[in-house]
Amino acid sequence: MTAHSGRHFLQIPGPTNVPDRVLRAIAQPTIDHRGPDFAELTLDLLPRVRAVFGTSAPVIVYPSSGTGAWEAALVNTLSPGDHVLAFETGHFASLWREMAERLGLTVEFVPGDWRHGADPVVLAERLAADTGHRIAAVTVVHNETSTGVTSRIPEIRAALDTANHPALLLVDTISSLGSIDYRHEQWGVDVTVGCSQKGLMLPPGLGFNAISEKALAASRTARLPRSYWEWSTILDSNEQGFFPYTPATNLLYGLREALVMLEEEGLPAVFTRHDRFAAATRAAVRGWGLEVLCADEREYSSSLTAVLVGGAHDADKVRRIILDRFDMSLGTGLGKLSGRVFRIGHLGDLNDLTLAGTLAGVQMGLELAGVTIDPGGLQDALEVLRAE
Ligand code: PLP
Repeated sequence: MTAHSGRHFLQIPGPTNVPDRVLRAIAQPTIDHRGPDFAELTLDLLPRVRAVFGTSAPVIVYPSSGTGAWEAALVNTLSPGDHVLAFETGHFASLWREMAERLGLTVEFVPGDWRHGADPVVLAERLAADTGHRIAAVTVVHNETSTGVTSRIPEIRAALDTANHPALLLVDTISSLGSIDYRHEQWGVDVTVGCSQKGLMLPPGLGFNAISEKALAASRTARLPRSYWEWSTILDSNEQGFFPYTPATNLLYGLREALVMLEEEGLPAVFTRHDRFAAATRAAVRGWGLEVLCADEREYSSSLTAVLVGGAHDADKVRRIILDRFDMSLGTGLGKLSGRVFRIGHLGDLNDLTLAGTLAGVQMGLELAGVTIDPGGLQDALEVLRAE
């Protein structure tokens, strides 16, 4: 293995770089999770967690990956055989669909080309046709991490409201929470699924469910089997500052520090920062003469950009060269995008110069891989960064 000096550039779309402040917070002695200090931590933490989801209602924190939080959202609200309407926006929407089917749900999967988000017009048509209200839930991945496409949740909500359809709205914000504007309560989402290792700048290991009153009511009659994921026992314990089983104590220290950092910067400023990074990245891609995978400018992701390499070039070869030469990790093409795209993560703990370095590494890697590009791309990105 080549020895590298300096810090590794972790520019995949999650897990993201963990700030030193958060690492230091995690590196504290583990305390008794049934003692008074722990209760104090939880009771301080939970309102801060709600704020990042844009809700005043409870948010469940699981010791889990994002996949666990997906499962929790389904098993707490639905019953065997229930119909779920889902959109094929990319790899993660496809995985969530597979999970729902394995759990015994019937998924109506709206096909997609992996370059667009969930279509509110198609949703309106499907809901209008569902006069018997067979669809129990609509699931949407807010930010498709495999494609860099962000679905328009307020328009999805509006389609449900216009149709006066009672289906629950379940939204995955795994790669948008804490980096792209998101409002659980205002947008009328019933369950928002999140996790720790992306916009929240933590290591992997925490999953979240933000829940509405309607979702809570649904959980009282939902019949899918569940035990570990059961909301009610967690909510009861949380009231006293505890969890029904051993929580990820040290990750919770880190979560508090990360949330304090987001509060210090202010969520609107955090979102604007990510919007700028994304605009600069797209300027570089276009300047190079390459194509951004997302095909609708209303749906550009602010947390990552998927880049089509084009021609006969292998996107994974570009990534390998960049890793070997410049010690930088980029996201691979997932599922049917394998070899065709690489993904630049620009979310979490990074600044203008981190992004400038990232794009410089990508430009040099493309050149070394023999992809014909215009080296003016980097300059175009720097101009976006310099402008504000
Ligand atoms: N949903 C989205 C949008 C994701 O990006 C990911 C992982 O990257 C997941 C779900 C699954 O999360 P995890 O890998 O933490 O289980």
